[in-house]
Amino acid sequence: MPSMAQGEPRSSVQNSKPNFSMRQKITEHRKSLPIASVEKRLIEEVRKNDILIIVGETGSGKTTQLPQFLYNAGFCREGKMIGITQPRRIAAVTVAKRVAEECEVQLGQKVGYSIRFDDTTSNVTRLKYMTDGLLLREALLDPHLSRYSVIIVDEAHDRSVHTDVLLALLKKIQRARLKPIGEKTEIGHMALEMQTKTRDENGPQQNGVLRGCQGRKLSPLKLIIMSASLDARVFSEYYGGAKAVHVQGRQFPVDILYTVHPESDYIDAALVTIFQIHMEEKPGDILVFLTGQDEIESVERLVQERLQHLPEEKRKLLPIPIFSALPSEQQMKAFAAAPPGFRKVILATNIAETSITIPGIRYVIDPGFVKARTYDPRKGMESLDVVPASKAQTLQRSGRAGREVPGKCFRLYPEREFEKLEDSTKPEIKRCNLSNIILQLKALGIEDIIGFDFIDKPSSGAIVKALAELHSLGALTDDGKLEDPAGYQMSRLPLEPIYSKALILANQFNCLEEMLITVAVLTVESIFYDPREKREEARTARNHFASVEGDHLTYLSVYRESDEFLEKKNVAGSGNNIDKIMKKWCKENFVNSRSLKHARDIYRQIREHVVQMGFNVSSCGSDMLEFRRCLAASFFLKAAQRQLDGTYRALESGEIVHIHPTSVLFRAKPECVIFDELMQTSKKYIKNVTRIDPLWLAELAPHHYKTE
Ligand code: ADP
Ligand code: MG
Repeated sequence: MPSMAQGEPRSSVQNSKPNFSMRQKITEHRKSLPIASVEKRLIEEVRKNDILIIVGETGSGKTTQLPQFLYNAGFCREGKMIGITQPRRIAAVTVAKRVAEECEVQLGQKVGYSIRFDDTTSNVTRLKYMTDGLLLREALLDPHLSRYSVIIVDEAHDRSVHTDVLLALLKKIQRARLKPIGEKTEIGHMALEMQTKTRDENGPQQNGVLRGCQGRKLSPLKLIIMSASLDARVFSEYYGGAKAVHVQGRQFPVDILYTVHPESDYIDAALVTIFQIHMEEKPGDILVFLTGQDEIESVERLVQERLQHLPEEKRKLLPIPIFSALPSEQQMKAFAAAPPGFRKVILATNIAETSITIPGIRYVIDPGFVKARTYDPRKGMESLDVVPASKAQTLQRSGRAGREVPGKCFRLYPEREFEKLEDSTKPEIKRCNLSNIILQLKALGIEDIIGFDFIDKPSSGAIVKALAELHSLGALTDDGKLEDPAGYQMSRLPLEPIYSKALILANQFNCLEEMLITVAVLTVESIFYDPREKREEARTARNHFASVEGDHLTYLSVYRESDEFLEKKNVAGSGNNIDKIMKKWCKENFVNSRSLKHARDIYRQIREHVVQMGFNVSSCGSDMLEFRRCLAASFFLKAAQRQLDGTYRALESGEIVHIHPTSVLFRAKPECVIFDELMQTSKKYIKNVTRIDPLWLAELAPHHYKTE
């Protein structure tokens, strides 16, 4: 039987008494969390151990409470910060907001978050929630992470590629901070020299060493690794037998129900289950695990539609989507209590497994799938597949139902299928393209990538492939050093190396404005809105923007038309007003308004980056030839040629591929194209495709396409 905490369960939402003030409610809630009773002990352990591993059930209060405990215990003296890393942006944002609320401060004061393209911290921020990838970037500017007294690597069980690299890097940084300044450290000379370069204007450095600081030590760095899974051994062994403590969770029994037969359509099965629960079960919110934004948005619509067929008094069901790409004001809706009498049905991706805890959940619906990205370095191909979730994930999912009261979990597959699931998910570092991470390691002064102390080593094939790719893109010299300036510039831009390369080249081709827009759009999830039920209508709407040259130019015209539309409307006034008008325009044109808004944001930020790098943002106007030539020069590693049978051959890997049906070139089938993504779903598809002249490849990437 799962362990139970003593006393009545309390939920800040469901059991709140109306006469409680917000303040009292939060204090009560904090006191009721399992972690509250071990505050003193945890602080002692942190004082005693430089590396501490904390394992605890999801919802026990690790992420929101521990940083506050450390703050109160004085770990932020002398302006030092506590950094908490998350593999997922959404967790960094929602948790920081929650903690700011608990501390009764404005976000960005004592508590803030920082994620790519969105930084809310200020110089008074002491508890800084951020993505693991962002902390890696910070290490480029401050190789000793000297502003931090404690770094908490949260959700370590997730084993995201950035977390894995951080685990290794923090080990080195911790050792380096114990050495007197001026002595050579493992994180290397290189890093310190780079620091000198970027801080030249502030002056007080010499050969990478703070002048007058020789012999002095930096303050030590405490390292805390937090994980939800029970297997702390792997982390403890990695850190030479580091101490691990377990925080008891609070878990009520969860009834697990399976289907009798396999379900052929899990979306439909999920819908049926939602309504069954709604009509027959006791009050309590529902959490449904879906695989992505498309699925979530379509279930949201289907729930709304089916509600219309119910009698008025039964319509009190409120579908609420939550996924990473959702704007954060909308993400917060998942945490708010439903209006009286209503039942929330939260439609979530696997982010709701461990990284965020939504109060009030009593029923979990688990179709048993997850979207997994894998990368085959030999073929240079990514696949994004909907695959069965692992046992560990499935157990986490059902656990979400028993946080506050005994719950139920509906698994939409027969029991015998459960036994067939993998125990846990493979670490991301073993199944992703490593070029970005290797570029960053190089920029940190780590030369020997194969010998680097990874917790799980990626295959040497994957490393070699990534090094070769970086060399082709001009980021690395022949002997594997960072190329000056392109390699440095590429490591500084918060983008995939190939996009950074495209921006650097666009600066030379005088089409930087166009490339900034294109890269921004390629960075967000699909700019078009393509609902299952309205495929034809959506296609017609897309045709309006279609360029015969391809998708990149089509995206440009979506972005520009939306700009022109806004200008024409001459919308002055509040952001809200603009949002409303834009939403309407998006809806009519089958453009995804969330994605477009996000793309605008990203555009602004990378524009700032390149301006800081000294680039002049010029436009090629209507000369789309130059723009396409620039695409060819940048994406030459991703070129494909049409074959006699109408399929395409990817020139780099030799794979036989097809243009994706969503591409504007799906039917036109030009002779030669560049693409953005090579993906295996039901077939091997290339996505985001633009026509080029095959002769350009030899002309613009002669080092790669030698003419015989
Ligand atoms: P852990 O990290 O151990 O999984 P958290 O610290 O994230 O736990 O959450 C502890 C509790 O705080 C949750 O059970 C939930 O009730 C509450 N909580 C967390 N985030 C929010 C939020 N954004 N809004 C309301 N309650 C929240
Ligand atoms: Mg947590």
